[in-house]
Amino acid sequence: MTKYIFVTGGVVSSLGKGIASASIGRLLESRGLKVISAKFDPYINVDPGTMSPYQHGEVFVLDDGAETDLDLGHYERFLSSHMSQNNNVTTGKIYNTVISKERKGDYLGKTVQVVPHITNEIKERILRVSQNGGKPADVCMVEVGGTIGDIESLPFLEAIRQFRFDVGRDNALNIHLTLLPYIGASGELKTKPTQKTVAELRGIGIQPDIILCRTEKELNEEVRSKISLFCNVEPQAVFEARDVASIYEVPLKFHEEGLDDYIVKKLHLRAKKANITQWASFVNKVYHPQREVEIAIAGKYVELHDAYKSIIEAFVHAGVPSRAKVKMRWVDSEEVERRGAAALLKGVSGVLVPGGFGDRGIEGKIEVIRYVRERKIPFFGICLGMQCAVIEFARDVVGLKRANSGEFDQNTPHQVITLMEDQLKVQGLGGTMRLGSYPCKVEKGSKAYQAYKQTLIHERHRHRYEFNNHYRKQLTEKGMRLTGLSPDGNLVEMVELPHHPWFVGVQFHPELKSKPLAPQPLFREFVKAAVKYGSKKIKK
Ligand code: GLN
Repeated sequence: MTKYIFVTGGVVSSLGKGIASASIGRLLESRGLKVISAKFDPYINVDPGTMSPYQHGEVFVLDDGAETDLDLGHYERFLSSHMSQNNNVTTGKIYNTVISKERKGDYLGKTVQVVPHITNEIKERILRVSQNGGKPADVCMVEVGGTIGDIESLPFLEAIRQFRFDVGRDNALNIHLTLLPYIGASGELKTKPTQKTVAELRGIGIQPDIILCRTEKELNEEVRSKISLFCNVEPQAVFEARDVASIYEVPLKFHEEGLDDYIVKKLHLRAKKANITQWASFVNKVYHPQREVEIAIAGKYVELHDAYKSIIEAFVHAGVPSRAKVKMRWVDSEEVERRGAAALLKGVSGVLVPGGFGDRGIEGKIEVIRYVRERKIPFFGICLGMQCAVIEFARDVVGLKRANSGEFDQNTPHQVITLMEDQLKVQGLGGTMRLGSYPCKVEKGSKAYQAYKQTLIHERHRHRYEFNNHYRKQLTEKGMRLTGLSPDGNLVEMVELPHHPWFVGVQFHPELKSKPLAPQPLFREFVKAAVKYGSKKIKK
């Protein structure tokens, strides 16, 4: 039977509940258990797909095309199970379902209310995730978004309270993540906010079993026993979640603390000894690189790194095989328009142009691409980055001066990037792009093939516009290679330039499938090419 772990957060937001949940999941998995994770978000958007990255960071796309919270990215990077749209539930989704049931008359004349109708729908979703399409998990982890005290998260908290009652106390655990602020003047870690948030949690009927304390200093016995006393948990159930330099160290720290043992014991799980050697060796390599390579990311949301979360993590993974630390230089493409590419890219060994929407900063991106194409600096274009590479090539090499994407200029005589038939009919924004995993045939002898070593790959998409097939002939005659195509040959998925050390543009988002122990092949080869172009030795 499946056991449940509910993770909540208190005191402040951004404590890293997602990383904590993913790390616990990873540890349990390393003990031979089948773990599945879900995130329940209190906002009313049906999914984060329509939110600006400024609001919500990156939208993480799954194989099935679900547009989800970036914490799902952490789950997929830390765990081996595959996520689907069931793993990210929002208030919007819940209400959508309940209201359409009500319209159909499913509630047989009853008044539809938060309790029991909304809470029942939430409980049903928890059950659905844990049953995992007929392959039930040993442990189902449910992270409730937001902070205790938010009005929006109340129905979710009520639902997890009831859920535990339904499955039996011993079959579920509540973990509460809090912050212990350190007051320098008195040299103390303060427990009052933790006491308060736990009191609030108990006020709504949830007694946490484990308190996970985010802290910058070591937890001493005195602090532990104080939290134990005031929060009504055993002293052994108070765990330290100390700040670490790499998120990948979190599972190792939790293991040292004995967190997985405690959970296994409390839930009566039949688990093996933890096997974390490979993970530990990965972390060791992250902490001890032999060289540093600087790569520029030329995009629009450069002040907000959460917008590029998966790209940042993919670089951490991809650096390890080259024993390199990738130092990222954030370049604002609008600033390129003002100051020129040379001023902002001096000294970098590679440039990545990431995905994006809207025309802001486009000309800057195109200028960056011209610069790296001519100077033979390794280049990696992702989605919009690939589209800009096609535009740049069409303008400067093919001579189609006003070439552009239909997204930015409807009146250009040369829409080298354009909407396909099926996108022309689309109305509304939510869930209407080419979304999710699509197959792609890779041309032998290409840089892409060197990376994947396979002729058929699957990668995830999130875009509306495509390479315009009318321009295939003109662009390839001038040397651009179309090295990845959809199996029916209709869609261009990858482009490359020969006579260049590494110039690859892809219509999909490879960063979404990178994992610590399995770096994404294109990222790995791009970093390798950048290291070859130039890197700095790190002195011991
Ligand atoms: N805006 C472009 C499109 O919709 C690229 C999208 C992206 O980079 N994810 O096709």
